[in-house]
Amino acid sequence: MNVLMVGTIALDTVETPFGTKTDILGGSSAHAAVAAGFFTKISIVAPVGEDFPQEYLDLLGRHNIDTSKLVKLNGKTFRWSGYYEFDMNQAHTKETQLNVLTEFNPQLDAESRKAEYVFLANLDPDIQLKILDQLESPKLVAADTMDFWIKSKRKALFEVIKRVDYMLINEGEVRMLMETPNIPLAARRLLKLGAKAVIIKKGEHGALLFKDDDHFSVPSYPQEMFKDPTGAGDSFAGGFIGYLAKTDDISDGGVRKALIIGSVMASFNIEDFSMDRMKILKKHEIIDRFGEFARFSKFDALQAIHLGGY
Ligand code: AMP
Repeated sequence: MNVLMVGTIALDTVETPFGTKTDILGGSSAHAAVAAGFFTKISIVAPVGEDFPQEYLDLLGRHNIDTSKLVKLNGKTFRWSGYYEFDMNQAHTKETQLNVLTEFNPQLDAESRKAEYVFLANLDPDIQLKILDQLESPKLVAADTMDFWIKSKRKALFEVIKRVDYMLINEGEVRMLMETPNIPLAARRLLKLGAKAVIIKKGEHGALLFKDDDHFSVPSYPQEMFKDPTGAGDSFAGGFIGYLAKTDDISDGGVRKALIIGSVMASFNIEDFSMDRMKILKKHEIIDRFGEFARFSKFDALQAIHLGGY
């Protein structure tokens, strides 16, 4: 199955302890689509400005991504600049220039309205709601958000949370949204507010799934080649939904496997700036790293007898 993605396409300026890069390809839907494109065909609906470089469109096109539904608007492309300190788990935003995002009023065509797998990448929740209104009968919708929207569009964000199947959010943001330092408690509160399932991304420490009757802890990869975490959350989400769409298996077991794939894709994305690692990634590397995850996480059940019985 194909995946429809709606989100930002950005020109990012990023500073990490490993360097500074200006106007590199970024944006929530760009990172997510590049990761998902390893598994299935992706179509992105997102605005770009007149200044968006053709070479970035070409790069997306080489990754199984249909860019014909991008909306070219008069003005400048969305821009984000940020930096990371030694603890690269925490992004610090320097500036967000919404630019063409403020003019973006997406109208899905007939094909996109019928999409079965949909990812509403980090974006203005009012726009995410407009997309939800236009979908006919999706099989699975996931959405992501960030502190910028929690602060500015809280009410609309709660509507989104109630209407999607999987809400992705990072640990700092869920603490902020649910006003508690305790992550399981924050997740439970979100479920009580109507979320069907919550995936909490914990940067280099993996992720957690909370669902009514299910909990799963997604391991992370002990990554020693770590240059730029930008887009880690988006590539996690892209791997997750891309793999689900490819297998069309949304059982609990299928979802767990897809979450590991998410962690695998995020672990590659952070090895270099922008798409520099993803653009040379090979499928066999994904398979090998998935195997490493399985090996790292495997343990046998405890035998009561070793503790001298109950
Ligand atoms: P992540 O590191 O996965 O949380 O996402 C990083 C990407 O999010 C960057 O490439 C940014 O261009 C994009 N981004 C930053 N701020 C926003 C925002 N307010 N809305 C949507 N996307 C954003």
